[in-house]
Order: sequence, then C-alpha cells, then structure tokens
Amino acid sequence: MATLQSSAPGPPGALEALREVAVVCTRCPLAETRTQVVFGVGDPNAELLFVGEGPGRDEDLAGEPFVGRSGKLLDRLVHEELSMDRSQCYIANVVKCRPPENRDPLPEEIEACRPYLEAQIDLIDPQVVVTLGNFATRLLLETTEGIRGLRGRAYPFRRGHLVPTYHPAFALRSGGQVVAEMRADLIRAKRLLSAPVEHGPR
Ligand code: URA
Repeated sequence: MATLQSSAPGPPGALEALREVAVVCTRCPLAETRTQVVFGVGDPNAELLFVGEGPGRDEDLAGEPFVGRSGKLLDRLVHEELSMDRSQCYIANVVKCRPPENRDPLPEEIEACRPYLEAQIDLIDPQVVVTLGNFATRLLLETTEGIRGLRGRAYPFRRGHLVPTYHPAFALRSGGQVVAEMRADLIRAKRLLSAPVEHGPR
C-alpha cells in the first residue's frame, strides 16, 4: 500500500492525514464488526511509543487505546516509572479495530493493518518503542519467540531501541512478579530515552 509508506518523519499534520485514511478503512473484515477505528493517541512527536495488541470493548466504544482496566495499569506504571502521562508519549495498537469477543487478531488482520502501524512509526519516529505483549513484539522484531524469552533487554530498532514487555492484561492476571518485571522494562525504556542513540551493549 504505497500511499501509506514514508521513510522520514512526516510534516505536521501527516499523522492526522493518516488517521483520516484509517478511520474509513475496510482492508479486513474487522471493519464490519467494529464500532470505530482506534487509531492511536498522544504526542505525534513523541520519543516514546507504546504498541499494544488491539482494541477491546472499552476502546472500541471510546475510540482510544488502553482506556479499560489494562490501560489504567499502563497509565499507572508509566506515571510511576517514567513520570509521564499519555499526552507525553504515543499509544497505538497492532490492529486498529476490535476483534470480536476479544479474540486474538488473525494473521491476515495483522498483515492488513500493518501498513498503518509502520506509517505511524515512520511519522512519529520515536527513539524508544515499547511493545506490550506477544503480538506487537513478534511483529516488530519479526520473530516467533515468546515475550517471556524476549523481554529483559532492548533491541536495536529503527533509529533507536525496542523494549519488549508484557501486555498489561497479562500483568493484571498474573500479579506481583510480572508487574515488577514490567516496571523493570519501563525503567530500561526510561534509561534509553535519555541515552545517546547508538547500539552498544545495553
Ligand atoms: N489491549 C490492547 O492491546 N490495546 C488496547 O488498546 C486495549 C487493550
């Protein structure tokens, strides 16, 4: 989809123009069951980008990512570990439309939606991307490995770094140890946000 591709941070308004394309998207069958497209939220010039899996019921109704219970946990951890709120970073998802009954997104849905995420990353051009859970991490690192094995370190990504961490819904189900590991991952992201961009040992 050539019109969605760009290789450099876009001009002001480019992300908004992309949103206008996305909100009427019919590239996959999720268009038929969604209430609305959940494109993303935050600062279009953010140095920190979070990528989740896909909207749930609350997000489908609100039109904003991570507004339900998972989002509350994400907001809290980001505030406590990075002293940031969602207006100071950007939050997007692998798929922009809710999979029915909150099922996992299908490979063909992920592929259909991928140009939007790629274009968001190109236009925002963040220094650090934090992937939340298996879907975002596997997609952006182009691996089939699981989040447990991938988290705990950072990976070179575009002009900066990718820090994989758990999905907050998994942290809510799992409790203390997983939340503590998420905190450690966010602290890693914070350190990388203030580090010069070069790919030495992390
Ligand atoms: N889970 C996600 O992965 N994304 C959201 O926006 C909400 C819940």
